[in-house]
Amino acid sequence: MDNLILIKYGELTTKKANRNAFTKLLSNNIKKILKDEEIELKYDRVRMYIECNNLSSVVEKLTHVFGIHGIVICHKVNTNIEDIKAKVLELLNKENFNTFKINTKRADKSFNVHSMELNNILGGHVLKNINCKVDVHNPDITVTVEIRIEGTFIYTNEIKGLGGYPVGIQGKGMLMLSGGIDSPVAGYLSLKRGVDLECLYFESPPHTSIEAKNKVIELARIINEYSGNIKVNVIPFTKIQEAIYKNVPDSYVITIMRRMMYRIAENLALKHNCKVIINGESIGQVASQTLTSIGVINSVTNFPVIRPVACMDKLEIIEISKKIKTYETSILPYEDCCTIFLPTHPVINPDINKCLLYEMSFDYEELIDEAINNVEVITNLKKEDFSDLL
Ligand code: ATP
Ligand code: MG
Repeated sequence: MDNLILIKYGELTTKKANRNAFTKLLSNNIKKILKDEEIELKYDRVRMYIECNNLSSVVEKLTHVFGIHGIVICHKVNTNIEDIKAKVLELLNKENFNTFKINTKRADKSFNVHSMELNNILGGHVLKNINCKVDVHNPDITVTVEIRIEGTFIYTNEIKGLGGYPVGIQGKGMLMLSGGIDSPVAGYLSLKRGVDLECLYFESPPHTSIEAKNKVIELARIINEYSGNIKVNVIPFTKIQEAIYKNVPDSYVITIMRRMMYRIAENLALKHNCKVIINGESIGQVASQTLTSIGVINSVTNFPVIRPVACMDKLEIIEISKKIKTYETSILPYEDCCTIFLPTHPVINPDINKCLLYEMSFDYEELIDEAINNVEVITNLKKEDFSDLL
């Protein structure tokens, strides 16, 4: 295999005690995302190398892996001075810089030119051909030349990786995934910090359509490109929602509905070994997301709830959703269970005692058990299965 990619870990290397676990998980995540490519992966404490055939496809996939901070494409030449000189010059001719530095690493000691000597030879060759200066302390560009047994690898630029932590290093979270803009972004941001996901979607057929469900599954598929492990739990929510509309005053239906969602989310989170519930609530965005509402809704569970977009403006959330390509799907017009039968005046400062009173008027526990028992689990998130149904 003629292409060599160097992976830089960045943030990982600062966590000394966890380094082995981090690099092992990162290498497994990379192997999983590159499972259809012909590659060979090796790593040590400070870096990882991938040999591959299909360079552009591999690099594209690597830009979806959290925990990678830099992707460096190395150019392989035969280990002889003329070939190395020519490649160094070819690479630098494509760059715009004033100062440079050559950094030779000689892993293959059978090559009898020492590192410092080669630095001088190559530096002199560059100075002769390009109008520039050497700066060993703060160069505009560094050319690294690695002499290895299998050949010499030369590299300059670094493609920026996604950063963050390897997905799964923090275990799993249960993401409440609606068809909106916010929750897929909340999921993406959690993945970035190493939290793998399981998704939970509440559907209310026939009030919500199959297209609404497919839209959510398509969103899960898009964020699954950063994980590979995501499943979607679809909870039939119709009976619960209808019971709420029958028994609860209009202004409180959303508050009570969301309390039911949290109860189910906690139950599923425990069942699936998730350590947190994650959702797309953003402070003040709608009546159910005032701080009072969040408190009253959250009080049904002691389970930790993470709200990655809580303090973002809608425009900031939209910017991320465009970047991760969930936006176009999120804005498709299908109704969600939160948007059907919207009350005209949802309460913005709900009273917990009223909630408890309204909840006594129907047997919600039985309905919750029934809903959970009838969960549909979707495991195979493939593009062709869902997106063309939208
Ligand atoms: P989004 O843009 O993510 O839909 P939103 O601003 O529309 O958010 P709400 O409808 O109040 O806000 O929902 C807040 C959060 O509750 C969502 O971000 C999501 O995490 C969760 N949620 C709402 N509806 C559902 C649903 N049908 N299934 C699963 N989770 C949901
Ligand atoms: Mg929504």
